[in-house]
Amino acid sequence: MSSRLVIMGPQGAGKGTQAQRLAERLGVPAISTGDIFRANIKGGTELGVLAQSYTSKGDLVPDEVTNAMVRDRLGQSDAAGGFILDGYPRNAAQVVELDDILTSLGVALDRVVELTADRSELLTRLRQRAETEGREDDTEEAIARRLDIYAEQTAPLTSAYAERGLLVRVDGIGTIDEVTARVVAASTPAA
Ligand code: AMP
Repeated sequence: MSSRLVIMGPQGAGKGTQAQRLAERLGVPAISTGDIFRANIKGGTELGVLAQSYTSKGDLVPDEVTNAMVRDRLGQSDAAGGFILDGYPRNAAQVVELDDILTSLGVALDRVVELTADRSELLTRLRQRAETEGREDDTEEAIARRLDIYAEQTAPLTSAYAERGLLVRVDGIGTIDEVTARVVAASTPAA
């Protein structure tokens, strides 16, 4: 199985859940930029205060902040044997930065998994999550904004990874277990 993976997909596609399940299976850390921002916001750190002014609206946190955070996290010892990156890269500049980070660490991506789901299904799921989890950035406006940013800035990145032969698309509609089985199969190199 590949151990250096990026998991991409619009908010509500189940990325975080699947990233964690896959990480457990591979014995590598799941690294979610959204989770790191949320932990900093909760802890009231300087990074958290800055990030919150963007995350609360559904906007991207500036690249220089996010890139430095990811570089630091991927350089930690628990990520040396592999990782699942969830929520990064999200724009073209972050793709370039990730390449640079990995080159300086002397490693390369094994696979990019894209979870797919249509917008109406995503809206239904995100509205349900807003009711049950009460995430600050799950307002109607922020949800729509995040889906728009994904479609405009993040989804096009998959073609760059497809050209490199790294991309696998996985249908994100189904039960959590069904989708996990697909993600695991997609993360296994073809014989
Ligand atoms: P997520 O949990 O992945 O939906 O991320 C929550 C929020 O954190 C996003 O809406 C952005 O404001 C911010 N964020 C997470 N990852 C990134 C990233 N790679 N670049 C910029 N902002 C990010």
